[in-house]
Amino acid sequence: MGKEPQSELLGLDIQELTSLAQNAGEPDFRARQLYEALYRQRLTSVDQVSTLPQLFRRSLAEQFAFGLPRVERKFVSSDGTIRYLLAFADGQSVETVWMPEGDGGEAGDGTAAGDEEEGKRWDRATICVSSQVGCAVDCRFCLTATLGIQRNLTAGEIVGQVLAVLNDRQVRIGEDRINLVFMGQGEPFLNYDNFMKAVRLLVEGTGIPESRMTVSTSGIVPRIADLGQEAVRPKLAISLNASNDAVRERVMPINRKWPIAKLLDAARRFPLRTRERLTFEYVLLDGVNDSVEHARELAELLRGMRAKVNLIALNPGPGIDFGTPAEARVLAFQRVLVKAGIPAFIRRPRGRDIFAACGQLKKTVEDAPGSLVGITG
Ligand code: SAH
Ligand code: SF4
Repeated sequence: MGKEPQSELLGLDIQELTSLAQNAGEPDFRARQLYEALYRQRLTSVDQVSTLPQLFRRSLAEQFAFGLPRVERKFVSSDGTIRYLLAFADGQSVETVWMPEGDGGEAGDGTAAGDEEEGKRWDRATICVSSQVGCAVDCRFCLTATLGIQRNLTAGEIVGQVLAVLNDRQVRIGEDRINLVFMGQGEPFLNYDNFMKAVRLLVEGTGIPESRMTVSTSGIVPRIADLGQEAVRPKLAISLNASNDAVRERVMPINRKWPIAKLLDAARRFPLRTRERLTFEYVLLDGVNDSVEHARELAELLRGMRAKVNLIALNPGPGIDFGTPAEARVLAFQRVLVKAGIPAFIRRPRGRDIFAACGQLKKTVEDAPGSLVGITG
């Protein structure tokens, strides 16, 4: 590739594309053609947009790149999970994870088997999307936290991750069932406007239903209220991870700013749609938040809420000072919740062998044993 054009088209909505067309002296319908080419057809360069006149294409190509991230690395797990390292124009990169037939937080019931038979195509999949390079929230059990915050992703960069993976996996939207979980690197609610713009482009442009999208937050309380007011929005998951303030503060320092009472108050006010439920995520840390007493305390906190709990046994990582509880402890914890009438599911870790599982998303290129499958882009 030669010199980088100064701007990127990916991330522009129909209004912005319309002004772009108007400024170029083109009729408004050119904006719709570009929009379709970018988000629906998922083309990768201006030259491919055959609906546009040659001259307009050329002048666009001089000023703009499409802006899809480059697939820098691709790690394939034994369970079919693929971890993509995607690079942006400025050299920063994030990770995006493909989980075929995965529960990915969407079904959340751990029923989906990960093993793909030879030659059999997956029939549903979940893509785990990043919202920032690194993260500022500093949860003590999370590997992403150790990166610190590098920068926010633009709306185009958030959309671009999804499109790059859809293209690589040759997904046919409308036929294939795709779920999106905004649970990769970063705190989506600390990049709220870009994140929400990306959601709208993915729903309206790409055609992924909002009901198949879930965003997870560490508990940025004011943004929970904002999300509730959105006309188009994903489902909400809240990373609770503790049953009282003392423990939560220890593992999630952000609890000092927004303690459990405030967080649950916002959750209770969140306007749920028909048949919609809130999800609470709870990472089980051995001997820290995983006792039967903690489970009872959690059940008490969530009593009366239309909610389910996803239990995740800690995925360990270098520099993480917590342990993974034994299976029996996880099951005992789940049993207390279920007995109290709270649906609770154990999330199976996906792609743990290639550092693709929850909380492991850090640029672990050197130490990932997973097979490296080609370098494209
Ligand atoms: N920043 C957002 C979304 C990304 S983290 C959030 O925190 O909600 C996605 C989920 O992974 C969160 O529920 C988080 O609690 C969980 N997680 C983080 N580190 C983990 C680890 N080491 N093992 C298991 N789950 C982890
Ligand atoms: Fe950030 Fe979420 Fe990791 Fe906490 S768990 S540090 S909010 S990515």
